[in-house]
Amino acid sequence: MSDQNNFAELQTRMRACRLCVEGGYQVTPPAVTQGQVTARMMTIGQAPGITEVEAKRPFNAGSGTRLFAWLREAGIDEDWFRSTQYMSSVTKCYPGRSKSGGGDRVPSRAEQKLCRPFLEEEIALVNPELIILIGGLAIKLFFPAKAKLTEIIGTQMQTVEGRWIVPVPHPSGASRWHQIKENQALIQKAIGLIRGHKERMFGEEGN
Ligand code: SF4
Repeated sequence: MSDQNNFAELQTRMRACRLCVEGGYQVTPPAVTQGQVTARMMTIGQAPGITEVEAKRPFNAGSGTRLFAWLREAGIDEDWFRSTQYMSSVTKCYPGRSKSGGGDRVPSRAEQKLCRPFLEEEIALVNPELIILIGGLAIKLFFPAKAKLTEIIGTQMQTVEGRWIVPVPHPSGASRWHQIKENQALIQKAIGLIRGHKERMFGEEGN
């Protein structure tokens, strides 16, 4: 099968997946992802929210507005990014509200484990040159779990495959981290790193 066919088949399998429901976890399928197998840049968030499920696209609501404002500063147009690159998450289905009512529930380790093979397949098929990790859960995929965001945001790493990994904080309005003045300088560094990769890969395209 071609990459295009493998990718379409993977998307169908992810949207049909009910593994967490069958395992008794509180999630609302279907999986929410967006983009193309030919993408050279990929984002990995935590999990979709309810408005993302309704709109069938990641980072649709308030968090998305802030995320795409950051990407705009990096020279990336939202419509271009959504239609030509790829957006996914650590777990693909809406996890519901947290018991405390302070936002959406963080997917459990068991749910992350169930969904991990999909993420590995997505990365292998898309083979992105740049992965932008959005928020703590995604950042822990590549960076030490105990490292503080203040030590990580504004840095980048390269995998053995040569892929660049740039972390950004979660852009949710419920998060205070990105609202703290000292942290905004770190976010600007991260935006600068993303801008450098985007210009190297695409030049003026997608501005
Ligand atoms: S979160 Fe992942 S593993 Fe769980 S039901 Fe959705 S697609 Fe399947």
